[in-house]
Amino acid sequence: MISRIALPIGVNAVESVNCYVLPDGDRVTIVDCGVWRPDLADGGLGALEAGLEGAGYALRDVSRIVVTHAHIDHYGLAGRLMEVTGAQLVMHTMTDLDCEKYRHPDTARARRRDTYADHGVSETERTDLADHLTRWLPYLHSVVEASQRLRGGEELVIGGDRWEVIHTPGHSLGHVCLFSASTRVLLSGDHLLPGITPPVTFERGFDADPLRSYLDSLRAVADRRPDLVQPGHGRPFGDAVDRIEAIVRNKLRRLEKVRRAVEERPSTVTELADLLVAKAILAHQRQLAISETLSHIAYLRWSGAVERRTRGDGVYEWYATGARSGSPMR
Ligand SMILES: [Zn+2]
Repeated sequence: MISRIALPIGVNAVESVNCYVLPDGDRVTIVDCGVWRPDLADGGLGALEAGLEGAGYALRDVSRIVVTHAHIDHYGLAGRLMEVTGAQLVMHTMTDLDCEKYRHPDTARARRRDTYADHGVSETERTDLADHLTRWLPYLHSVVEASQRLRGGEELVIGGDRWEVIHTPGHSLGHVCLFSASTRVLLSGDHLLPGITPPVTFERGFDADPLRSYLDSLRAVADRRPDLVQPGHGRPFGDAVDRIEAIVRNKLRRLEKVRRAVEERPSTVTELADLLVAKAILAHQRQLAISETLSHIAYLRWSGAVERRTRGDGVYEWYATGARSGSPMR
């Protein structure tokens, strides 16, 4: 019996994150663990402890932490939890890149600012947008490496149940989902969420074509036809394949929109982001809109539909190559 603990987050527009408790012998494996809370005396362990107690366990019973992806809302508390419980940490190898970023946040911020400059974001807005990481870092207890490194395709035996590890890059390069073929349950992290289309963000040095990775890994999950999805945020839901189709439609629509805009006239990513996400006003919304646009433009570029040139002011501008092979409706 899987229990879900909705851990409160309340920062950067993230209300809560789900921690799943899977009985594992006389101890438990948990999937995702929420954030470190420097403002609370218990560091955020209290909410998890209360949830575990509700499921009939104590904090010390946690023997293994599987992190679906190393975004701080899913991973921030892992280091503290390992100290307290001695638990093993299980993550995909590509989470190394996230750990590197957390270890060298100044470099990560500078790289973001460079990206934004290249794509035409104004200097005043650049710093604000690159501060996304600054707003999250206080909620990361420590940078901890995986005790068990996943590549995808492994089987984790948890309490007698076999869970297939599916590498699902897109929302995050080191993202994994767990699927139980016997119960048809999918622990989806942020790969599949109820109600919203997960953002696919482009980041230099990570995936060169994250949207293609995302669409491919959505298909990989759809092929398994899960009956129940236990997501990283929000409530569990049943219509996995319908959700996937809706998400794919949404992404393809946006791809078409970007492709047509670039066909009409060469544009910068900043101009395209304004077109794609009209009401992105707050910094985190702008940051998402630009990252999301970058992932769409990357897809079109690697499809051969658009190409890049540098304007006189040094800003990248995208133009249509005229190649129809770039149609996303393949
Ligand atoms: Zn998340």
